[in-house]
Amino acid sequence: MAVVLIIGAGGVGRVVAHKCVQNARTFTKIVLASRTVSKCEVIQKELPHGAIEIAEVDADQTSEVVALIHEIGAQILINVALPYQDLTLMDACIEAGIDYVDTANYEHPDEIKFEYKEQWIKDERFKSRGIMALLGSGFDPGATNVFCAYAQKHYFDEIHTIDILDCNAGDHGYAFATNFNPEINLREVSSKGRYWENGVWIETEPMAIHMPWNYPEIGVKESYLLYHEEMESLVKHIKGLKRIRFFMTFGEDYLTHMKVLENIGMLGIKPVEHQGKHIIPIAFLKTLLPDPASLGSRTKGKTNIGIVAEGIKHGSKRKIYIYQVSDHETCYGEVNAQAVSYTTGVPAMIGAKLMVEKKWHQSGVFNMEQFDPDPFMEEMNLQGLPWSVQELL
Ligand code: NDP
Repeated sequence: MAVVLIIGAGGVGRVVAHKCVQNARTFTKIVLASRTVSKCEVIQKELPHGAIEIAEVDADQTSEVVALIHEIGAQILINVALPYQDLTLMDACIEAGIDYVDTANYEHPDEIKFEYKEQWIKDERFKSRGIMALLGSGFDPGATNVFCAYAQKHYFDEIHTIDILDCNAGDHGYAFATNFNPEINLREVSSKGRYWENGVWIETEPMAIHMPWNYPEIGVKESYLLYHEEMESLVKHIKGLKRIRFFMTFGEDYLTHMKVLENIGMLGIKPVEHQGKHIIPIAFLKTLLPDPASLGSRTKGKTNIGIVAEGIKHGSKRKIYIYQVSDHETCYGEVNAQAVSYTTGVPAMIGAKLMVEKKWHQSGVFNMEQFDPDPFMEEMNLQGLPWSVQELL
């Protein structure tokens, strides 16, 4: 049905490639392109002969991407490179006239700011070309946005509060490593916390607010309030909402390492001079840390990500937890990647699949909760991300 161009051959790109191959009736030709083509080759070798083609591309160069799109005849581009490439890749899709999917909002390498503004303003250009951009089709953002839309559609007349909860109880045996790109991950978790209540954003010191939560199939874990990008679109689209927060679990060890790295300046994003050369501390730290794509074979344990929604149904109070549990070893057994990459890559493929099959398709730039959640939820059950609903009240 469609030729897909996947850009980025990291942990998430590997999962997207595997999952597109499993859905070859939708994705009739699959091309995986990245900056370092040898990483594409490794993934290509894991898959049946001829299942995917590979290419080298610099996603920062819009013209290079446009040329590749034309060369292979792509109809949809899945961006699983880094958030730095969102704008150049959206521009490439506009120029070539094809659909676009990503999993994380745009970030500028020199500025820590998580917002959709610069992607949303491309709405008119996507509309005028009759093409669609689906933003944040990973797990969080992504499946969590769909969970909110599903709760709104099937469980509530009014949703008053939402807590998004992200627990990774996986153990990779390293003293310190991140489960996805270290630079992007550490920028996110070391920033100030922020949540939305009664129409205003409230800022907190990093990790200042925390609470224990009993995650099904995992147990009680301390969960820390962070700012997370899906809240920006959810406050616009979930009507009647009074408060939304995001929490992520961290072990003591992780927090101690992060604090020390921050205190000594290793999380800095501005260049410093070192022996006559300019280096960016956080980029250098990334070089030292284990490649997240290499964690797959050693990670044991589970993830549990979901949303707690509280509100009113038929005049009575209701509180539910919609969640998904993945097992790191099971994910690795299927696609050679740990659960964090798996739970991101599968929704990226599902978003693209629904667009290609025109189940989710309109012209313009959209977030996940703007579409009917049902087909996405059905696909999650079919594609390896079964979910559950727990009634809490
Ligand atoms: P990795 O760092 O493992 O992989 C990124 C890949 O993109 C690498 O292959 C890298 O190439 C490639 N890349 C980077 N810059 C360019 C460029 N200019 N041109 C071409 N290719 C480039 O990251 P992950 O796979 O862990 O994460 C991928 C994305 O998924 C990120 O945007 C991340 O924020 C997002 N994510 C979203 C989540 C969600 O739930 N929504 C959760 C986790 C991640 P090279 O090998 O040369 O460096």
